[in-house]
This record gives sequence, structure tokens and C-alpha cells, in this order.
Amino acid sequence: MVSAQGVHKHFGDLHVLKGIDLEVAPGEVVCVIGPSGSGKSTFLRCVNHLERVDAGKVLVDGEIIGYHEKDDGLHEMSHAEVARQRSTIGMVFQRFNLFPNMTALENVVCGPIWVNGENRTGAVERGRRLLDRVGLADKVDGYPAQLSGGQQQRVAIARALAMRPKLMLFDEPTSALDPELVGEVLDVMGDLARDGMTMLVVTHEIGFARGVADRIAFMDGGSIVECGTPAQVIGQPRHERTRAFLSKVL
Ligand code: ATP
Ligand code: MG
Repeated sequence: MVSAQGVHKHFGDLHVLKGIDLEVAPGEVVCVIGPSGSGKSTFLRCVNHLERVDAGKVLVDGEIIGYHEKDDGLHEMSHAEVARQRSTIGMVFQRFNLFPNMTALENVVCGPIWVNGENRTGAVERGRRLLDRVGLADKVDGYPAQLSGGQQQRVAIARALAMRPKLMLFDEPTSALDPELVGEVLDVMGDLARDGMTMLVVTHEIGFARGVADRIAFMDGGSIVECGTPAQVIGQPRHERTRAFLSKVL
């Protein structure tokens, strides 16, 4: 579902991604862990073209993200085409990014109605089901300011799911939450994983990664240092840098 091939990214003189190769199969959950500044968010942002890659490419469901491939090389897509690609990729950030002037339900249905052109009745019915699925059936008419951080993040997940994504990207979705609210969001993500969603998750929650991920990629200094099952990467890390990182976070 995702194929990153030799992805490089610079910010000025800073070489932030140094040739990232990663495959995520349909239905697979891959967690990305690693120290602050190692390039995890930048890599995730390259997957939906919020950042442009300097070399290499990212394919999602067989399509190169952000570019058309022609005989003479890659050509940048129009904004409308990038928007179409992005609409098939759900993204949940550390900050919830809900529209503050809309209820939970309106936040969930606005994408399907305005971007995908779904009819309002159907979108609302589905929006209610999605909010029910993330445990918020009683909060459909609540505004973001009336919801806890964990509830807002669950609305954000429902909103992303409303677009019927092929792939869900999560960038530290629980790191801005009070500790007692982390579990409810991780539970929703675990359910999603069990339902077969393809997920790429940047997280500091090693327990979640160990329990839910099919594979874990450890990033350091702009490279994937090692990638394997939780039992391999957490249980028997092969690299000193992985061991040093894990000793700090476990
Ligand atoms: P954290 O765990 O703290 O979120 P990260 O692994 O997600 O870290 P990135 O946010 O990808 O790290 O940042 C990687 C490097 O790129 C850092 O040195 C950061 O300062 C730099 N960087 C990120 N975005 C930009 C930008 N827009 N302009 C310049 N430098 C940037
Ligand atoms: Mg980050």
C-alpha cells in the first residue's frame, strides 16, 4: 500500500531524510519510533506530499505521490490532483485541528459532503456511526471546546475515516494528551488496526507499538536503522543505537 523508495529530504543545509526505504503492505500496521529530530514527522509528511521529496519517491496504492511519471522523468502534479491523492490518505496529528465553530458531527461530515460530494443524509448517517465507533455517540452535537483532548482526538480519527481512506497516517496522536486520556485514543487505533486498516504510526508509545504493530521501524539521524517485528526490534535489537534509544524509553 505504501512504498517509499530512496526518499531524501533537505531543509537548507540540513539533510533530514537520507534515503528512506519502507514498504507497508495492505492491512499492515507499521510503527515508526526514534529520537526527537530523527525525521519521523518529515517522512510521514512526505507520504502525503505535505513535504516535497528531493530524491526518490513515495507510492501509495501504486500511484506516485505528487508526480506523474513520463518518459523524461517525474512531473509535478496540479494542486487538484495532489488534493485528490491526499483525500484518500487520512492523517491525524498531535494537535487535533478540528474546526472550532463546528460540532463533532459537522467536523466529521464536512469532508464527505464538500470534498467528496456525498449527499447530506447519507453522510450524516455514516458520521453518526463513525462517532459511535470511536465511543462518542453522546457527543455528536458537542463543540471541540466542550470535549476533552482525548475526545477531540477521537473526533479527528472519525473525521479522517469519514473520507474512506486507503491508508491512515498518525503522527504522535497521543503525545499532547493528559496521561489518563492516552488509553482511549490508543484503544480506538488498536480497533482500527484489527479491522484491517493500513496504518503508519509515529509514536512514543512503545507498549502500543509492541502490542499492535506488525513491524516497527527505528529511525535515527534520517535513516531507518532497523525494521522488523516488535519481537525483533524491541526484544532483540541488532543495533547499538536502537538499544540506546530503547533503554531511555522503556
Ligand atoms: P520529534 O520526535 O521531536 O517530533 P521528528 O523525528 O518528528 O522529531 P522532524 O520533525 O521530522 O523530527 O524533524 C527532523 C529535522 O528536520 C529536525 O532537525 C527539524 O528541526 C528539521 N525540520 C523539520 N521541519 C523543518 C522545516 N520546515 N524547516 C527546517 N527544518 C525543519
Ligand atoms: Mg515529529
